[in-house]
Amino acid sequence: MAKPRVYKTEAIVLKRTNLGEADSIITLYTPNLGKIRAIAKGARRPKSKIGGHLDLLTQSALLLAQGQNLDIITQSQTSESFPLIRRDLWRTTCAIYVAELVDQFTPEHVENYPVYKLLQTTLLRLCEARDNELVLRYFELHLVGHLGFQPELYQCIACKSPLAQERNFFSASGGGMLCPKCTRKESLVRPVSVEALKVMRFFLTTDHISASRLRISPDLSLELEQLMREYTRYLLEREVKSVGFLDRIRGEAAPTDLNADRSSYFSRSTT
Ligand SMILES: [Zn+2]
Repeated sequence: MAKPRVYKTEAIVLKRTNLGEADSIITLYTPNLGKIRAIAKGARRPKSKIGGHLDLLTQSALLLAQGQNLDIITQSQTSESFPLIRRDLWRTTCAIYVAELVDQFTPEHVENYPVYKLLQTTLLRLCEARDNELVLRYFELHLVGHLGFQPELYQCIACKSPLAQERNFFSASGGGMLCPKCTRKESLVRPVSVEALKVMRFFLTTDHISASRLRISPDLSLELEQLMREYTRYLLEREVKSVGFLDRIRGEAAPTDLNADRSSYFSRSTT
């Protein structure tokens, strides 16, 4: 079906890049059109009517007109600005990582409503959750799942036997777990504790809120983070840029008033 000349959509802003003197190219994730990039003319002018509704990590209702190459955003209205994320540097950093991961993992113009819903819910959870690390792990696991890369967590990917309650191994290239016997033939594997496997299985079968209520030790949290980082890096074939921010800000995780240098932080993250 041909796209109408003018159309409306909800969208969450994943990225902004400068175009010319005052325009911006906005990367958006939408419920029904997947990821799209569109031009916001004059968005960087101080008095722009649309620019303020297209900040990074804002959910807006948009009106777009078909353009020659990229479509043009003609109207925008903020529907959810996730204010609690913006008041805290750690939450902001987590949210930027989430946006970057969605941007890097998704092709343009491929509808994937579960990814939109996961992105929106993750931003809401980042506003409220006590342990944002769990919010991120839940997000990563479900994101790769919605894109066809859900790891096999119940049986060995080589011999197909059910995994026993013991230390097993994760193979990023194989997309799942290996039993201790089969792991001898593989070199690039990571040991996975019984507890870590339990948490990941729980995440796959529960909702976001129950997942973020879990309480786990810092060691287990680190093990899960390293495992998912290795898997996403393997799938993307590159490092996620904002992982560096995450590592730097983690440890200074006490709530920080971001107002003082928010603009510089946001512009740095969008280049
Ligand atoms: Zn096996």
